[in-house]
This record gives sequence, C-alpha cells and structure tokens, in this order.
Amino acid sequence: MGNGVEFFKAIASGGAKCEYESVGEAKTVGGVKGKIVKRKDATETHSNLPQYAVTSDMYFRKNKDGVCQGRVYLDHKVTLDFDWSHEHVNNGTDGRHFKKGVVHVQIWQQKPDGTFTRISNGARLMNNAEMKKYGPLIKAFCPDVKFR
Ligand SMILES: [Zn+2]
Repeated sequence: MGNGVEFFKAIASGGAKCEYESVGEAKTVGGVKGKIVKRKDATETHSNLPQYAVTSDMYFRKNKDGVCQGRVYLDHKVTLDFDWSHEHVNNGTDGRHFKKGVVHVQIWQQKPDGTFTRISNGARLMNNAEMKKYGPLIKAFCPDVKFR
C-alpha cells in the first residue's frame, strides 16, 4: 500500500513501505478479498484509502458511523469507489442525487503521468454485475448498506 512506481519497486525488492495499516482480519466472500485499512497517522476516522493494493481486491474505510466506503483494485490499481458515507450530487452534469447509506459508484482513471483521478460528477448506482460480485463482501463489512 503506497504510491506509484517507487511502491512497485519496493514490492519487487520485498520491502514496501506502507502508509496504511490493516484494521482487523481480511474477509473473503465469493472469491473477493477485502479488509479495512487506515492511515498509520489517523485516529478513529480513517480519512482515505490507498491508490494501490497488494494482496486485497478491496479496501474499506470507517468513519464514526462504521464502514462507509469500499475501493476496488484491478491489477493492484484503484479502479472503482463504492461510497455510502455521504449524500452525493453530480454537480454540473446530470445533477443526480444519492442518499447517504446508498452506494454511489465513481470510476478512477489513470492519467498519462501515472497519477489517478476520480470522476466525481458521473456517479451512478451499482450495476447488477457489481452487486453480484462485490455486494456480498460489502454487506459482510457493512450489513446496513443499501445498493438501491
Ligand atoms: Zn460522493
């Protein structure tokens, strides 16, 4: 868990320097593995999630209400956010509104310089394939979450 080319070099050499640490045990549901992580310097509110994952398919974070966001990684890189921590409005696009407690999905893209950017104004509900694949693991970490 960390950032960029240096991170992968570090993994290759067996000495990745992690900015994040695990909270509790990993869970695997339906073949998808995830765990809660937090920044090492954070206290009870886990402010964000890493952009790279080593052995997990998803990382989750908690806020004062409990687990409130999950991030999906493909080829170790951030690719999707499932977020139910706040009300969300797609500003300047379709104006779509998502209630707190209902997952809104945002896509991450990697830019030519290697950094990542999240498309925050095009949030959508989870599609059926996402609910089938990731839904059971999300529910395992947050039983009250809603997908619709
Ligand atoms: Zn949002």
